[in-house]
Amino acid sequence: MTIQPFNPPRRTLMGPGPSDVHPQVLQALGKPTVGHLDPTFIAMMDEVKALLQYAFQTENAFTIAVSAPGSAGMETCFVNLMEPGDKVIVCRNGVFGERMRQNVERLGGEAVVVDDAWGTPVSVDKVADALNRHPDAKFLAFVHAETSTGALSDAKALCALAREHDVLSIVDAVTSLGGVELRVDEWGIDAIYSGSQKCLSCVPGLAPVSFSPRAVEKLKARQAPISSWFLDQSLVMGYWSGDGKRSYHHTAPVNSLYALHESLRLLQLEGLENAWARHRAMHDKLKAGLDKLGLGFVVEEAYRLPQLNAVYIPEGIDDGAVRSALLNRFNLEIGAGLGDLAGKAWRIGLMGYAAREENVTLCLAALEQVMN
Ligand code: PLP
Repeated sequence: MTIQPFNPPRRTLMGPGPSDVHPQVLQALGKPTVGHLDPTFIAMMDEVKALLQYAFQTENAFTIAVSAPGSAGMETCFVNLMEPGDKVIVCRNGVFGERMRQNVERLGGEAVVVDDAWGTPVSVDKVADALNRHPDAKFLAFVHAETSTGALSDAKALCALAREHDVLSIVDAVTSLGGVELRVDEWGIDAIYSGSQKCLSCVPGLAPVSFSPRAVEKLKARQAPISSWFLDQSLVMGYWSGDGKRSYHHTAPVNSLYALHESLRLLQLEGLENAWARHRAMHDKLKAGLDKLGLGFVVEEAYRLPQLNAVYIPEGIDDGAVRSALLNRFNLEIGAGLGDLAGKAWRIGLMGYAAREENVTLCLAALEQVMN
């Protein structure tokens, strides 16, 4: 049997991620591979670090991209900072808060779960209450932008509470980075992770991570060994150090890092605040059209993520048939509902390069046709 080269169809990606990759980012990916200790590559990694500091709005020296997807960013935070027996307040208002809880328990920690209904933000009052009831808690972990529901939580208020109670905050910014306001230093975030494939519009497979000096201190002072070799950041720090003494830890995904460099460069060129405003403006346009189609939002307006629009599937409409028709007739991908919302909602992403007027127009016109 002769295997043919793989030629993927040209889709418009308006689901929960990956999002449309910027053409310049795809071009960057195809540039010649150099050695991962090549001086030119090392200089580019220093730029990636500076650009990530800009995207996260932080001066944290420990700001890197883990060579693995967003879930590895999550594990990086827990495996490096937590020790067995540590108590962690974990906020759960969707799929990814539950994934955080599983991380805590697999590492021998005690998760105190603060539950909020799917589609609502994390309740700051409930978290304050949990912190008061558990003065021995060491961490507060929550998802800033819940991709499973489209709800935005108040990271600024939650991190302020964490500081008040002297616990370290661990924040999931996989869907929020580049799409909505996020200020790591100003909000006092201690450990944060993201993913390359959402509002950065890069290829999937890299997880930006940043630790505050407090988090780095905690990592250095830990008693228990770090149970993962690959994610042990005390080993990786040397690799990303920028002190000119970079040594081998693992073979970096060289071309993927070219792509991240380009996507972050484009974000800086646009300006972070302009990118946040663009996501909001495209969301407003999409919302106006969805209203006309009679599609109601899962999340109340005040907590809605512009980059992830979860809408209820109207009665009598076949979820699978609509999504298949969008894909087959319009090359358009939207997301199915996840977990509690499976079969009940669609998730329409407006992430990064996908947050463009032509995408909004296509999505609304295609939905109108396939639903009638
Ligand atoms: N956290 C959130 C909020 C996400 O949306 C995702 C992925 O969709 C993840 C974590 C996991 O990221 P990845 O799928 O890149 O491992």
